[in-house]
Amino acid sequence: MKEFDIVIGLEVHAEVNTNSKVFCSCKNSFGAEPNTNCCPVCIALPGALPVLNKKAVEYTIKAGLCFGCQINDLAVFERKNYFYPDLSKAYQISQLVKPICLGGGIKLENGKVARLNRIHLEEDAGKLIHKNQTIGTLVDYNRGGIPLMEIVTEPDFSSSAEVLEFLEKLRRTLIYAGVANCKMEQGGMRCDVNLSVKEKGSNILGTRTEMKNLNSFKMVKRAIEYESNRQIEEIKAGNKIVQQTRKWDDNKGKSFAMRSKENSNDYRYFPDPDLLTVEIEKNDVENIRKTIPALAQDRIKIYTEKFGLPEYDAKILTNEKFVSDYFENCLAIKNEPKQISNWIMTDVLKVLKEKPCEDLNEIITKENLTTIIELLETKQISRPNSKALFELVCFDTKNAKQVAKENGMLNTFSDKELENVVQKVLKEFDSAMSDYEKTPEKVVKFFIGKVMQLSKGLANPQIAERLIIEKINK
Ligand SMILES: [Zn+2]
Repeated sequence: MKEFDIVIGLEVHAEVNTNSKVFCSCKNSFGAEPNTNCCPVCIALPGALPVLNKKAVEYTIKAGLCFGCQINDLAVFERKNYFYPDLSKAYQISQLVKPICLGGGIKLENGKVARLNRIHLEEDAGKLIHKNQTIGTLVDYNRGGIPLMEIVTEPDFSSSAEVLEFLEKLRRTLIYAGVANCKMEQGGMRCDVNLSVKEKGSNILGTRTEMKNLNSFKMVKRAIEYESNRQIEEIKAGNKIVQQTRKWDDNKGKSFAMRSKENSNDYRYFPDPDLLTVEIEKNDVENIRKTIPALAQDRIKIYTEKFGLPEYDAKILTNEKFVSDYFENCLAIKNEPKQISNWIMTDVLKVLKEKPCEDLNEIITKENLTTIIELLETKQISRPNSKALFELVCFDTKNAKQVAKENGMLNTFSDKELENVVQKVLKEFDSAMSDYEKTPEKVVKFFIGKVMQLSKGLANPQIAERLIIEKINK
């Protein structure tokens, strides 16, 4: 029985989050009315001239620096010629011979480095909206001209797990660096998968197919698993793999042949005569390097070493930048990293899972979360009540302390009341005293539990403990 290796390379497109488009001053935004963020340049009226957005180049350089790429000192924009209704110029301005970044890579957990071949900058195309048969297909050019980073890898992946880990790390880094939002559900990050199979251990690569525009991690995983099995079955049946572009149908869970795969010379690339060669100065690159903020791995280091959080917790907190930002914002109000981390990990993230959002302040404001921690710490509220208070101020901006007061959640248990309860408990569970000689701690704990129960969580357990021991010793 023959065994096979899977060989995968990726082309990842990420929209760069500049304010304006890459060759005109139209807004770079998602969700506007169709064809409202357009001008003669991005809908390609004859005679309109592109002007390069400097920020888009800087952000691409910044991304490259995060992945250890070499930055080219010259970058050239070229025309990639093809016709499609979402591309009104009939060519896309892209880069072939002289991209902005070369090389680099991302280290995977298994020690393997997934190498990057290049990162280049290009423009996004418009979007086709397929309506019913009467209306037909409509085109929205709002997306046309949005700057797009294309990150091309070497064929270094041998499983969908490696690909997913890479994509997660790539996405996280781009978001932390502030150069792309990578909102996959909005098409802000899309992935093309090149895949071939070869006999195990062989040096000869098989014929590859390409699956384009996979826009969720789940889709990427399913497409890779389907396509590798399909190719292995074909080869086992004695058939040849045809080099082609295939369309992944996520509903059917299958890929279909779309067209024979084109090579770069099919596109007749040539330097765009309307754009100058970009000279990238070493000095500028170093200045851009200085603007790279703390990335996820840097924050993990701070959280474990400086705040003493377990690595597992630090990883969960930094998984999404907005979670990590929220954690740090809470920390700026109240310097209790462990408490804040615990509340986020157990309570806030649980709500996030049920009701996804992009700012945890929507779930509970940083002021309210730190207030609850403060109330707990100063024994003004019992633990069960603190959880109930959390529920009450979830998706609400009312002041947590005020809500606690209004709902009678704050400890108003007087010392006299506590003493009475202790007395009552000691009398009622008198029989437990017989074990006191043998296991004093266990017995005291038992009494504290009863006091808390009877006081509905309002008693201060430390004071209760002191009183119980006092009374027993008497
Ligand atoms: Zn425009």
